[in-house]
Amino acid sequence: MNRVVVVGGGPGGYEAALVAAQLGADVTVVDTDGIGGSAVLTDCVPSKTLIATAELMADMEEANELGITFQGSLTTDLAQVNARVMRLAEAQSADIERRLTREGVQVVRGRGALEGPEKVVVTPVDGGQEQTLEADAVLVSTGAAPRTLESARPDGERILTWEQVYGLDEVPSKLIVVGSGVTGAEFASAYNALGVDVTLVSSRDRVLPGEDADAAEVLEGVFTRRGMTVLSKSRMQSVTRSGDAVTVTLTDGRAVEGSHCLLALGSVPNTSGIGLEEAGVTLNDGGFIGVDRVSRTSARSVYAAGDCTGVLMLASVAAMQGRIAMWHFLGDAVAPLDLRTVSSNVFTAPEIATVGWSQKAVDAGEIEAECVTLPLSGNARAKMQGVRDGFVKLFARPGTGIVVGGVVVGPRASELIHPVAIAVAQNLTADQLAHAFTVYPSMSGSVAEAARRLHVFRT
Ligand SMILES: Cc1cc2nc3c(=O)[nH]c(=O)nc-3n(C[C@H](O)[C@H](O)[C@H](O)COP(=O)(O)OP(=O)(O)OC[C@H]3O[C@@H](n4cnc5c(N)ncnc54)[C@H](O)[C@@H]3O)c2cc1C
Repeated sequence: MNRVVVVGGGPGGYEAALVAAQLGADVTVVDTDGIGGSAVLTDCVPSKTLIATAELMADMEEANELGITFQGSLTTDLAQVNARVMRLAEAQSADIERRLTREGVQVVRGRGALEGPEKVVVTPVDGGQEQTLEADAVLVSTGAAPRTLESARPDGERILTWEQVYGLDEVPSKLIVVGSGVTGAEFASAYNALGVDVTLVSSRDRVLPGEDADAAEVLEGVFTRRGMTVLSKSRMQSVTRSGDAVTVTLTDGRAVEGSHCLLALGSVPNTSGIGLEEAGVTLNDGGFIGVDRVSRTSARSVYAAGDCTGVLMLASVAAMQGRIAMWHFLGDAVAPLDLRTVSSNVFTAPEIATVGWSQKAVDAGEIEAECVTLPLSGNARAKMQGVRDGFVKLFARPGTGIVVGGVVVGPRASELIHPVAIAVAQNLTADQLAHAFTVYPSMSGSVAEAARRLHVFRT
């Protein structure tokens, strides 16, 4: 029987373990912090649970337009919100662990390190005795941790990483979010909706520099309309605390004062000190593990998946890399990872969902594509719901009309992107997308309408 040892029990690791067990391998997952990994315990699940509360608050704030008025004011009990967040994360972790055990996967609590490519030494977190696990294949899926700087050291109380915010039991009176990538934008949006005075410090000229520029412009407009201060072209130099106050000093000498600071400065891979290079695993710049499209590293029988590879830091991609690794190792049918079909979402209000080729790639001439952008403001359902911000954008190849990408900005864009993702994955044409019925009235009507506008009339 093939022995598989998985180091790291996040989505990259536990999904791989489930596939390996299904294919008849003897599987052990080693994890330090709890099954589900950062995705479940500190990052993805907690942040989206917090955002669920924030969304409701944002809707209530705008309910007036739909004829609802409140007596008194809406307030957030952050201690209660955070208790729910943590309860839900722990329950989700326990659910996944139970599923692994049911499928015959052995779970070991401890820190794993490679001793050559076919051995993993586990040091228990509670200081017990080390054990050595022999493996025919090792999957490294150790994830990543928040990047911090000497000049901006988190203290867990007022200067916080995204893993530490759930310890807050009172709403910050003034929160400074440093970093306007996806994580920074999501937290800024959520706390703003919860009624917090938020300043977003962005080193670039707009928020979400990696996303569709039109989408980022819509979002920045909404942020400022809702009272957030967005400081663009503002690079943080240091963050200091004095009593109950924090000061973010910018490289141009300006100082921003607040009660709390949340650092969203990106992630560093958890790849040092676990015997990777000694086992023949090559690390790229920044310490990420180099992998090919079937998750192989440079060491025979060592695979890697997820954030520790830096391929695309999403739970969905981590999970797919992990599954692909096991399909490949255990000889099942496998298609290499195709990043062009990945759909992703920024959970701000409004949400921004994307799939396939981007506007940037089209503008740079990397692919020839026609583009249609349709504002949601013309959609009947959007009008009924008081939705003004957002759009659907589709890209299709000239001539064939095959849909190669799309962007949706709006409430629940994460759900609305799915038909576009199917079109991209299955090489459907804009006509095929347009000809599927949509419910009237519905936001998805705008996806079909955008596709209709890409129709090429041929005589
Ligand atoms: C705030 C935030 C929100 C996010 N939201 C989303 C989202 O909505 N959707 C999405 O798709 N992605 C989201 N992501 C990204 C997503 O969380 C990551 O891509 C995902 O966690 C990667 O999974 P992983 O398995 O690679 O690693 P992780 O989930 O980080 O799991 C790695 C595990 O390995 C353990 N480990 C580390 N070293 C060792 C060792 N030596 N021995 C044993 N165990 C070890 C860690 O303790 C951890 O439990 C978010 C990220 C952040 C920061």
